[in-house]
Amino acid sequence: MVQHAHIDRSKVRALMEREKALFAERHPQSRQLHRRSQESLLAGVPMHWMTRWPGGFPLFVAEARGATFRDVDGLEYIDLCLGDTGAMTGHSPPAVLPKVTEQLAKGITTMLPGENAFWVAEELQRRFGLKYWQFALSATDANRFALRLARAVTARPKVLVFNGCYHGTVDEAYVSLVGGEAKSRPGNIGPQIDPTLTSKVVEWNDLEALEAALAPGDVAAVLAEPVMTNVGIVHPEPGYHQALRELTRDYGTLLILDETHTLSAGPGGYTRKHGLEPDVLTVGKPLASGIPAAAYGFTEELGRRAHAVIQPPYADTGGIGGTLAANALSLAAMRATLEHVLTEEAYERMIALAERLEWGVKGVIAKYKLPWHVTRVGCRVEYLFRPNPAKNGSEALAGQDPDLDPFIHLYMLNRGVLLTPFHNMALMSPATLEEHVDRHTEVFTQAVKELL
Ligand code: PMP
Repeated sequence: MVQHAHIDRSKVRALMEREKALFAERHPQSRQLHRRSQESLLAGVPMHWMTRWPGGFPLFVAEARGATFRDVDGLEYIDLCLGDTGAMTGHSPPAVLPKVTEQLAKGITTMLPGENAFWVAEELQRRFGLKYWQFALSATDANRFALRLARAVTARPKVLVFNGCYHGTVDEAYVSLVGGEAKSRPGNIGPQIDPTLTSKVVEWNDLEALEAALAPGDVAAVLAEPVMTNVGIVHPEPGYHQALRELTRDYGTLLILDETHTLSAGPGGYTRKHGLEPDVLTVGKPLASGIPAAAYGFTEELGRRAHAVIQPPYADTGGIGGTLAANALSLAAMRATLEHVLTEEAYERMIALAERLEWGVKGVIAKYKLPWHVTRVGCRVEYLFRPNPAKNGSEALAGQDPDLDPFIHLYMLNRGVLLTPFHNMALMSPATLEEHVDRHTEVFTQAVKELL
């Protein structure tokens, strides 16, 4: 049996205090702006989850370019968070800027289509293999609209999601297993309806539970990421996707794959890379280099059925909407992003960089016999402070470390590296460099030496 290194928790807490003091000392401007923001922004932040950055207050950003940014105190950072995937393209990619600027001068939104609409739809068809496409402004909305259509075409009331999932602020997905029972997710703010009435929830990789939930024939759709990425990365077990597809087909349930994060796997996401066959695919975040845009695509058959339920007199008030959805600016940005930024060649580089980070971290874990592991989906890498990869959401949640997670974030931040918040996740962009990755490995090594 491997004798794992021991980490003294009181030492972690003492180091955390030191890092907090260092953070406060080095960011007088951010601290000042945060104080001032308390007067006009709820909790001093423009988006409530920004209160969760470790360090007591968030950094205020002056400028972000490529794979780096500068804060208002003039400090530079390597950005491995990339807006939690919204900027997986790198910040303000040079190939997109002229197209966006050009479109800004030619009209931002008209509620009418232009040529970019079908260029983008044809490119999404080519990448993901699904026939018909629609647009939205966020991945959340793409998921919400996909679920509405699924319920409409199947005439079934329920949705099935996996424990520990995140698909944006989609009400049906705010359901968790607590002691084996479906419950409204802890922290679910003011749900309009108890989500256990709309949803079923099972553990990822549990085919028996999946079949039992589908068998009554009341589930319109399964909504899943092809690899869970929001509770730590949790991969499907061998054969799981095939069985998921077969079971959903057998029970007449539609399969919606949310590729918003797993777009890290390649230009056609995990779906294309592994030959999956969803009925619906949703994607958002980096699709337009961070300009609000999302898309959802259907099989030909489902597209026809969906078309039939969108009744002409109610097409604008039927519950699927967004005045600014498919606006000219989003579409110009999507086209430029797909054409010039998220290309095959870019992915080759990004994935090689992610492997470099994975191997760097793996090497440190092995050298110091740490009870940790590292995992990856294409250009997205994550390390978790538990010895083995989790099999499902419950295991992944139990493996979260309330001391080490914030410590590693703040330690990295104080040394110029930004990780994705709420995870130890690092994402590569076409602008990321080997030296950025190596700096992360160097700081990671330093952190480990201090912890031991
Ligand atoms: N799907 C997945 C898999 C996500 O991780 C997220 C956000 N983290 C979303 C959808 C929602 O994206 P947005 O907040 O941009 O609507």
